[in-house]
Order: sequence, then structure tokens, then C-alpha cells
Amino acid sequence: MRKKLFFATFLTILLAFTLTACSQKKKQNVYQTVKETKTINWGVKADTPLFGAINIKTGQINGFEIDLAKALTKKMFGKKVKANFVTTTANTKIQLLKNKNIDVVIAAMTITPEREKQVDFSKPYFPAGQSIMVNDHSKIKNVKDLNNKKVLIVKGTTSADAVKKFAPKAEILQFDDYGQAFAALKAGQGDAFVTDNGILAGILRDNPGYKLVGGNFTDQPYGIAVNEGQTEMHQQINSALTQLEKDGTYNRLVNKWFGKIPGLKVKEIK
Ligand code: GLU
Repeated sequence: MRKKLFFATFLTILLAFTLTACSQKKKQNVYQTVKETKTINWGVKADTPLFGAINIKTGQINGFEIDLAKALTKKMFGKKVKANFVTTTANTKIQLLKNKNIDVVIAAMTITPEREKQVDFSKPYFPAGQSIMVNDHSKIKNVKDLNNKKVLIVKGTTSADAVKKFAPKAEILQFDDYGQAFAALKAGQGDAFVTDNGILAGILRDNPGYKLVGGNFTDQPYGIAVNEGQTEMHQQINSALTQLEKDGTYNRLVNKWFGKIPGLKVKEIK
């Protein structure tokens, strides 16, 4: 009898411990953890010219989003917290956030209702939309012309749904990253390459012989994502973004990265 009682008490204590541990894990406040550990892990792109792309010479990732993440880190935490950059892809960013491998995503990530079920987005920080790249001699002029054509896109991005919606008869070919999709266009494996306007403009800058046609056929701005329920981090990011807009940092970065890019007009915040 005594043994049974001892065992039952032991089990109750164990259960209480487990429940406390679980609820603490659930309640972990990423903003406070970053403050304590003095490191913030930003999920970024490394294959996306102008936004986040690796420089082969230095091995560093550069781009508008990298600069913006550094400025946000400083605004939110001062100089003591280090911004660490972790490479993500369209397919991995939400999972890495859920697994707590990264704290925040700033990675050309379009705000969609589907994604909003899993993460919380900041207010928009870049006015992206789908656009079309073709070679200079192509007769394709707009999204409707993509019907019955081979269209190259990157896996896990919003491009597939956009093409299916506006050119339902297009044949979609999917690639792992922007380098591979563009290489396929160059090799003539497809008639057009579709993704966000800013990304295509970045690729175009370094590759003569191609053009963007038809303007943007969707309006799909980017947001910064945090895990659901990370209210403090979410609020801090939004208020830091507003401060960067007010103090001119945002406009300075827009000009630095997009100011001289042909065909890309990004409105400054007044
Ligand atoms: N804006 C696109 C999307 O959110 C591209 C993402 C990416 O390149 O990772 O699906």
C-alpha cells in the first residue's frame, strides 16, 4: 500500500514538472531570449539578388534585407545584440521558424492568407508583385501570352499559383533556386521566367539580353515573419520599422539597393 502511495505521489510530481516545462517552452518569449543570449537569428535568402545574395568572393550575404535586418536589430536591441544570418529557401523558412532554428524571417516572403495561418507578419516593407522575364527576342508581352508556353518558376514560391490563376494553360517547370531557374531560361528550356519584380530586376542588372514584360500582374508585398504568438517580437519589429521609416534609414536603404536598378521603382516613404 505504501509503495503504491509513494508511486502515485512520484507520478503526480513528475506530471507537474512535465506540464510546467511544456508550458514554459510554449510561452518562451523570443524577444526576451534574444536579449539574454545577445544574438538574433534572422532567416534570409542567399540566392536572391538585391534582397539576400551570397558574395562568392567574401562568403558574406548582402542585400536590402540584410541591411534592413541589421538596422532593425540595432533599433530593437542596441549595439549589444549580434545579428546572425541563416540561409533559408522558400520551402524551408516556415519550418525553420517553427523549429526555433531562426527567430525572425526577412526573406522575400510574400504575405499570404495561407501563411498567415502559421506565422505573424509585420506590416509590408517591400511592394512586390509577380513579373515576367523573357529573352530580348521573345514575342511574349503579358501574362496572358504565357498560356501554352513553358514557364520557369522556383519551388515553394507564390509564382506557381499566380501563373495558374492568370495563365491556366501555361506549363509550369519548377527549380530549386533562382540561379537554376535563370540558367534554364538561358538554356532555352522554357519561354519565360516568372517571379517577383525586384528579384527579376536584380537578375536582369547582371544579365544583358533579357527584358521584363507586362509590368506586375499581382500585388504581393513582403512582410517580416515571426512565429505565431510572439507578440512582443512582433510589436517590436513593427515599431522599429516605423522608426526606420521616420528617421530616413528605410529610404536610404531603398535608394542604395533599388535606386539605380532599371525598371524598378520603389516608392520612398514620405
Ligand atoms: N515572394 C515569393 C514567396 O514568398 C518568393 C520567396 C522566395 O524567394 O523565397 O513565395
